[in-house]
Amino acid sequence: MLEKFFSTPKTLRRLRGGLSGPHIDAFADNLERDGYAPASAVRYIRAAAHLGCFVQRKGDVLSDIDLNILDSFGRHLRRCRCPHFKRGKISYHAQFGVKLFYRHLIGCGICPSESVQNLPANPALVTAFCDWFRTHRGAKEPTLRHYARGATDLLRTLGEDVGQWNARALRDFLLERASQCRKETTKSLIPALRAFLRFLNFRGECRDDLALAIPAVASWRLARLPHCLSAEEVDRLIAACDGTDTGRLRDRAILLLLTRLGLRSGDVASLRLKDINWNSGTLQVMGKGRYQVCLPLPQDVGDALLRYLECRPANIDTEHVFIRSIAPCRPFASGDGVSSVVKHALRRANIDSPAKGAHLLRHTAATEMLRNGVPLDQAGLVLRHRSIDVTAYYAKADVALLKQIAQPWPEVNV
Ligand SMILES: [Zn+2]
Repeated sequence: MLEKFFSTPKTLRRLRGGLSGPHIDAFADNLERDGYAPASAVRYIRAAAHLGCFVQRKGDVLSDIDLNILDSFGRHLRRCRCPHFKRGKISYHAQFGVKLFYRHLIGCGICPSESVQNLPANPALVTAFCDWFRTHRGAKEPTLRHYARGATDLLRTLGEDVGQWNARALRDFLLERASQCRKETTKSLIPALRAFLRFLNFRGECRDDLALAIPAVASWRLARLPHCLSAEEVDRLIAACDGTDTGRLRDRAILLLLTRLGLRSGDVASLRLKDINWNSGTLQVMGKGRYQVCLPLPQDVGDALLRYLECRPANIDTEHVFIRSIAPCRPFASGDGVSSVVKHALRRANIDSPAKGAHLLRHTAATEMLRNGVPLDQAGLVLRHRSIDVTAYYAKADVALLKQIAQPWPEVNV
C-alpha cells in the first residue's frame, strides 16, 4: 500500500494517476516485503512514477520499457525539467529504483524478460550448432550458452570461412586464450571447441580431423594441498560473530555449520526449516548428486541456529533458514552469499588466508575430523563424499596422518 510511504492525498493521487499508476501499489508492497528502508522505498516509488511520465511523453507504453529506455531515462535525469520530480544531482537512487520497477514489471508479465531480449545474437552457424547439440546431446541451457560463447569466439577469431581452418590456427587460438585466462577457463573452453568442430565436420563444412587438433590441458585431480585454518583461527573467526544483532547471530550459525559439519555453501543456502529435526537433534542435508543425508546437530550449532531463528524477521514468508540481511531480504540465491559471509568474518577476525570462501571451512572441518582420529570412512560419510579418495585428500594437510594412510610396502618372504 502506497499509504505506508506517502500521506498527502495529492501525492498519492499523482503517483497512482500516471502511466506507472496501476502497478505502483503492488511495487510499494514488494519493496516493503523485500525489506527496503522506507526512505529508499520512497525514492524508488517516485522514480517509478517518473519513469512512467518519461515513457508516456515519448509516446510509448509500459510494455515498451527495456534496458535501452532505462538508459535514456538515466540520461534524461541529468537534464530533467519534469514538474513534481526533483532534479537531484545524485540520480543513483532513481536509476536503481527504475531498475527495480522494471524487474517488477517483468515479474507481472507486463514487460518481456531481460534474458529473452538482451542476449546478443549468435552467428547463424552457432545458433545451428546449439540446436544440434540440444537435440542430439540433450544439453541444458547453461552448457549451451557456454559452448556458444566458445564457438562464437573461435568463429570471430579465425573468420567465417571454416573450410580454411587448419590445425595450426586452432592451436594458436587456444594458446593465445591460455595466455590470457586462467587454466580452469582454458580447460572449460576445450569441450566447447571440440563439440563445435565435430558439428562442423558433421555438416561437412570443415576437415574431419580438426577436433583432434585441440590439445588437452594437463591438470591432476586433488593435486593441491587443501587450505585450512588452525583451531585457534577457527575460534577467532567464530568470536568475530559475537553480538546480538540478527546479522551477527546469522553469521555465527552459518560459520558453525560450516566448521563443525563441513557443509558446502550451497547446502547452507538451501537449508530449510523442515530440514532441522529438533527432537532427534539432526539435520537433513541434500548432498551433491541429490542424495539426502541425516547429520547429527552438535549442541553449539543447534543453540546458534535457535538464537538466530528467534530474532529472524518474522514477516518474510520463506521455508529457508537463512535470509540476506540487506534488502531484498530473501533467501540466498546461491552459495555465493554464504561464501561472502565467510569472507567478511575472516576480515573482521583479521585472518589472512589464501582461500576466502565457504570451502575453506569445509576443508578445515575435514582436516579437524581426521586430526581428531575420526576414521576416513566416517569422515567421508559426514562430508558426503562418494569416494574415499576425496576424503583422504584432506589428510594431505597433515603429514602424520599421511603416514597412517600409506600402506606398508608388502614384504616378500624368501
Ligand atoms: Zn524528468
